Amino acid sequence: MKYSLGIDLGTTFSVVSIIDENGTPKVLNNKEGNTLTPSVIYFGNDEIIVGDDAKEMQAMGDNNIACFFKRNMGDENFVLEFNDKYYNAEDLSVIVLKKLKKDVENILKAEVKDAVITVPAYFNNLQRQSTINAGTRAGFNVLSILNEPTAAAMAYGMKKEGQNKNILVYDLGGGTFDVTLVHIEDDIIKVLSTDGDHELGGKDWDDRIAMYIGEKFFEKFGVNPMDDIEYYNDILVKCENVKKHLSKRESTEISIYYCDLSEKFTITKDIFVGLTGDLLQRTKSLSEDVLKSAGLTWDNIDGVLPVGGSTRMPMVLDFIREVSKKEPIVGINVDEVVSIGAAIKATIETSPKVTINKEEKSLFTLGGYKKTEDVMSHSLGMVALDSLGKGYINSIIIEKNKKIPCTEKRPYEIRTGKNRDNVLEVYMLQGESEEIENCTVLGKYVFHDISYVGRKPAVIDIEYSYNKNGVVDVFATQRETGKKLPLKIEKIPEDFSFEEGFGKTEEVVHKNIVIAMDLSGSMRGKPLEKAMEASKTFIEALDEENSSVGLIIFADRVQTLMPLTEKRDDIISAVEGLRKADVGTSTMSEPFSEAYDILKDAYGDCFIVVLTDGQWYGKKDIMAEVNKCKEDGIEIAAIGFGNARKDFLDKIATCEENSIFTEVSNLKQSFSRIAKVILKSESGIKMFQKSNSIKLQ
Ligand code: AMP
Repeated sequence: MKYSLGIDLGTTFSVVSIIDENGTPKVLNNKEGNTLTPSVIYFGNDEIIVGDDAKEMQAMGDNNIACFFKRNMGDENFVLEFNDKYYNAEDLSVIVLKKLKKDVENILKAEVKDAVITVPAYFNNLQRQSTINAGTRAGFNVLSILNEPTAAAMAYGMKKEGQNKNILVYDLGGGTFDVTLVHIEDDIIKVLSTDGDHELGGKDWDDRIAMYIGEKFFEKFGVNPMDDIEYYNDILVKCENVKKHLSKRESTEISIYYCDLSEKFTITKDIFVGLTGDLLQRTKSLSEDVLKSAGLTWDNIDGVLPVGGSTRMPMVLDFIREVSKKEPIVGINVDEVVSIGAAIKATIETSPKVTINKEEKSLFTLGGYKKTEDVMSHSLGMVALDSLGKGYINSIIIEKNKKIPCTEKRPYEIRTGKNRDNVLEVYMLQGESEEIENCTVLGKYVFHDISYVGRKPAVIDIEYSYNKNGVVDVFATQRETGKKLPLKIEKIPEDFSFEEGFGKTEEVVHKNIVIAMDLSGSMRGKPLEKAMEASKTFIEALDEENSSVGLIIFADRVQTLMPLTEKRDDIISAVEGLRKADVGTSTMSEPFSEAYDILKDAYGDCFIVVLTDGQWYGKKDIMAEVNKCKEDGIEIAAIGFGNARKDFLDKIATCEENSIFTEVSNLKQSFSRIAKVILKSESGIKMFQKSNSIKLQ
């Protein structure tokens, strides 16, 4: 039979299970003959030892030991050095997983590749991704990542039939605490909510005893052996044993020898409970948060299922009794149940399937097997501008405790340029707080190769998902081309400040302005002089580095006096040339089609500033030309005086603010107003909006 493994890759111990040919869960022994393999690695000069022997070396005080590294999964800054080599938590997990794989293959006498690996429900994206990587690097085909409490509920739920119950899975392991509320039905287990703390576990109970002993030793001898790295590991191992003894007895003793000094301490259950009471209170408040998220109270709970080695401490069971007013569910092996749940999932996932009534069914049946529906323990968000537009916040896209897999789709608008890689950047986060510093930054997701679509902003549809493993997937498609955009995920430097970083990288978009001057007969003389003066002031007010200006004139005919230019001198002399220009005397033409031709391929924001002193006759299609410009995102400002009509100016201008009827003597002020509008016009990547998305019709 081809087996699929369920692997509980634990902080302190790892466990591997299979479902055998009779459909019975089986926990496999390691080479040393034990079901629990300590997740401890010893780095010798020419050998690396994993498991029981490594733990023994640790107990003997050897310091070339790596342990508890699961707590640092996904943490870039956690690196250990052994024999001139560097290892992060993922590298260390690969070593443990390789040992598990080798031992299992020896027992089963066959290569085993398919595996489901469990993780604390509270693991975030980086930690999950890192676990998948570790599994793959160790030679496994990682079928899926399963939340530990869900795995426990699967194994427990398989035994139970005909129930409709709310069960709280209280999973206190060596380094992590997870609490998950599940609803068990006849054929399905639904996870309702989950929470946890990946820095709370049995090790914290050990640490409290170690601190207590260290202080007592210090009180008596003036030295604290816990300050000495040589003795630190040794004492911690002893303290773990004290803890375990206290699970069976009322008191125990521990002897410490340090610097020729020795002392025997008696630790009673009461002392132990006193030292660690606050840790239990932390599990209480997280449990209550989970109940609250599902709208339930302790009264609505049918049972509490203790999981994880640390629930062997009697104080934990007493505590569960006290808060839930119910007997904890006992009788399952708290160390093995998680890997058994994973083995069930692995076996079902790899068994041959048939499709009945459009639903895929596994041909392999396990008595009492129930499907599961899981949720994610963290909200998924992105960096967005706050409502005042002043600072950046975490804007949540997918709320925590939403059933997974799930997807949210949002559209974004972005300007595109012709000869450059148009990119869209999204900073992804996990966490509940609005404050970015309280969230985990997953990275900068950069979508490349956005096609140039002219003046109108391109529309990019982004899909944010939690996949079945609770891993974040982000995809983007350009609406205009239907093309899926390639994604690069970039790491964000640790000292990156969202406030400063964004400010610095904000794109300055080039402005292209065509001045369209009515040069009919009535403009000659004083109005033209004033218009020239106002135009020059207007041109000078623009930001020279980031703007181009063109000049067209119209009357009987239309003429481009100056195409778009960045050179101020050229455009100013074109304005000076207006006195000599001749395009006839009446107003028979319109400037918009000419202006459109000039602007249509320009990169950046585009504007037409029209100046007129009269009515335009003979042009039936003015509005069609105006609308063509507007549809292509060109902004039109209309300044009129003399015989110009305000309602006409209103019609051609893009908005009321851009339509000005004035006196000839006030032309300068009117142009200045338009210059201000142009200078403050919004531009650049528009994704940092409060709503996260642009409303599109
Ligand atoms: P796990 O991560 O689920 O394997 O849990 C390991 C944790 O359970 C470690 O902190 C162990 O010290 C703790 N543990 C195992 N057995 C006992 C016991 N009999 N009493 C108290 N804690 C225990």
